[in-house]
Amino acid sequence: MDAADFRRSSVLLDSPRTIVGVRAAEVAAEVVAAAAGTVAPRVIVIAGSGFALRSWAEPLLAALRSFPLHIVIQSGLPTPESVALLAREVRAHRADVVVTVGGGSVMDAGKAAAALSISSDPSPESVVRTCEESAGTEGVPPIIALPTTPGTGAEATPFATIWHRDQGRKLSLRGSALLPVTAVLDPDLLIGLPEAHLVSCLLDTLAQGLEGAWSIRADEQSEWLGATAWALLAELLDQRHDGLGSAERHAALLAGHLAGRAIAIAGTTVCHAMSYSLTLRHGLSHGHACGLTLASVLRYNALVDDDCTDPRGALRVRSAITRVVQAAGVDSVEALARKIEALAWSPALPPAPDIRPDATRIATDALAYDRAGNNPRRVNVAALTRLLAGTAERDYAR
Ligand SMILES: [Zn+2]
Repeated sequence: MDAADFRRSSVLLDSPRTIVGVRAAEVAAEVVAAAAGTVAPRVIVIAGSGFALRSWAEPLLAALRSFPLHIVIQSGLPTPESVALLAREVRAHRADVVVTVGGGSVMDAGKAAAALSISSDPSPESVVRTCEESAGTEGVPPIIALPTTPGTGAEATPFATIWHRDQGRKLSLRGSALLPVTAVLDPDLLIGLPEAHLVSCLLDTLAQGLEGAWSIRADEQSEWLGATAWALLAELLDQRHDGLGSAERHAALLAGHLAGRAIAIAGTTVCHAMSYSLTLRHGLSHGHACGLTLASVLRYNALVDDDCTDPRGALRVRSAITRVVQAAGVDSVEALARKIEALAWSPALPPAPDIRPDATRIATDALAYDRAGNNPRRVNVAALTRLLAGTAERDYAR
């Protein structure tokens, strides 16, 4: 597909309103005013650390400068401290609308800050407390999300991941106010994304696509979304990932978005549950951490039988997996697993650490996250430890 085919094209799906097309700057002012419901909204832009270096940043800001505009740079993973600080900025600016421009961490930070900005005194403690309850909606400024990486799907979900490093835990902030009202998917915003980052994001899409299909909370729609994400990425997976062309950037961004919608419905499962320790304890990026165990969990879940945790039965789970196998254009679960492994051990990624000595601890931590309970085949510490050790064995056998 040529860029001209989808320039300024608009696709309206379920909430959030989703606009797909290049030159986001051309529609930015209109989208922001519509979301805020006023002609002169006070706008805060929360962007990632690479923002100023991107060629598209200045036209985007120029389009928004007709409004009272405040720009904040968010770097690193969102923490209770950084979210509290951002929430104070949103309050201080009296923002009518929050525009997040970045990868999953930046969008999560912006979403959480918008939700916490209704607190009279946002603090790290109030962030943690709100994660334990759920975020209120009254007075939360609407959020507009412009992803600059494919794959996290944060622009399509009503939750945000916050990293509590002191406690070595991942927190989840949930609430309908966190769902962006508008997602602007501009493939040109991916230009300049480093290859390691891109591969990690593609792995996150693959994991979210499969998990959104096999989760015990999956429905017909999330299965379809997950399989479609895989279909969009199938050809990309066989190519090098540097210098993506316009059509490939479009496919990657759309696949990430659809997989994000799949998990917004179905939640994630054990790959994501195990990924949090791999990120917190071993420093792996989110997508790399999810992708590392995905092939092993796929082989494990494909053999589900009377240990099925989905009340609809093992047949439903196996047919959801078959649907993804077919969407990916391969003929077996094993071929799908090999496709995942080829990407998970791409030379573009930093070498994975030896996780075998830590496998039991990672397995134990994973089971404490409620999403582990979404897995369609029963898991326990022993099963997850074996999966993690097996993943590492295959890695070291290379
Ligand atoms: Zn993810």
